[in-house]
Amino acid sequence: MITIEDLKEKFINIFNKKPEKIFFAPGRINFIGEHIDYNGGKVLPFAIDKGIYAVVTFKERKENTIIHLYSEIDNNLYTVDLDKNRDSIQQSSLWIRYPVGVMDALRKNQNFEMWIYYYSNLPAGSGLSSSAAIEVVTGYLLKSYVFEETSIDTIDLALLCQKVENEFVGVQCGIMDQFVVANGKENHLILLDTHTLNYEYLYFFYPEIQIVVINSNVPRSLASSKYNERRKECQLALQTLQTITKQSFLNLVEVPENLVLELKEENLKKRALHVIRENQRVKEMVQLLKHNPKDSISKIGHLLYDSHQSLKELYEVSCQELDIIIEISQKFDGVIGARMTGAGFGGCALALLKKEFYETYTNQLLELYTKKTHLELQIFTTNISDGVKEWK
Ligand code: ADP
Ligand code: MG
Repeated sequence: MITIEDLKEKFINIFNKKPEKIFFAPGRINFIGEHIDYNGGKVLPFAIDKGIYAVVTFKERKENTIIHLYSEIDNNLYTVDLDKNRDSIQQSSLWIRYPVGVMDALRKNQNFEMWIYYYSNLPAGSGLSSSAAIEVVTGYLLKSYVFEETSIDTIDLALLCQKVENEFVGVQCGIMDQFVVANGKENHLILLDTHTLNYEYLYFFYPEIQIVVINSNVPRSLASSKYNERRKECQLALQTLQTITKQSFLNLVEVPENLVLELKEENLKKRALHVIRENQRVKEMVQLLKHNPKDSISKIGHLLYDSHQSLKELYEVSCQELDIIIEISQKFDGVIGARMTGAGFGGCALALLKKEFYETYTNQLLELYTKKTHLELQIFTTNISDGVKEWK
């Protein structure tokens, strides 16, 4: 576990300056409700206890805003003049697009100079939403520290960061990631209606159960193109369904399942069935969690397996390696449920495990996975944690 002192020392080594404040934004896992946050569905994510720290020093300036940015992702020190360099950074593929996009979107007339060191214990690009973490931590530190806002609307902050990722960075993500990174709560899942943005917290803590995160380490080269393809397929499925049924639906999740069977295109039918059934599974999960969660634990596990099956067969966003993780887990007695989580084509899986089995489960998984895939797994446990905050 990194300490405040470690972070400050690293900051001093990088910038030769005294650090003033430290902020933290978590990564996230979606418990269930995958690929439906851009279809108006209900999702059930939570913030994890790993994420991105931002160590900061700031001073006002009369003109020009200069930002010095450092992350171990490339061990490079970037000095950016926000007015002069904005466009060239946007067109680059550098990681500084994320913080620069957020600063550009939030900045009003103030000019300042800022030094930020980002430290992360969240694997980047593995579906735990490091992108939302870096956006939200940057937005939060600007609002609270630089602009001295005393109460920060974390829903507005999430929307702004999503807009930056969509428009400045150019990734068509839904609202879920930024929302949970900004609004996470210890030991609670967030039930978020992605159409209305209404949300509620659902308590989720079992002393005898561990949440295990399993990073497949599969390079996610297909992820962004396939993600955009799925989004288009969902739009097309909705349009086609409106045309053939002459009914109007706000979102794909609202279409009754029997109507979907009228779709002739096999791929559109499969995508729509996943979306509608996954949304249904979220609703069932919520019922289980609200009434008698202790008695329902095996049903909770089944819903996770069903979700994985659907992502594999109907939505076709899993991959062989993720399927292997789920297969091994399903055969293991101590595992209550497991599924891939995040956009897919690599990335992470999540398993609910009876705590006493941790050693044997991880040993078995590591061994069998490496034998079958020649890749190495990264396995860690996580607690459900708070969203973005200043770290004191
Ligand atoms: P995910 O959000 O699932 O982790 P993305 O591809 O959406 O994956 O975002 C990963 C990108 O976010 C990285 O390529 C990098 O640009 C940025 N990023 C993530 N972590 C860091 C970090 N620690 N420092 C700098 N940039 C980071
Ligand atoms: Mg991301």
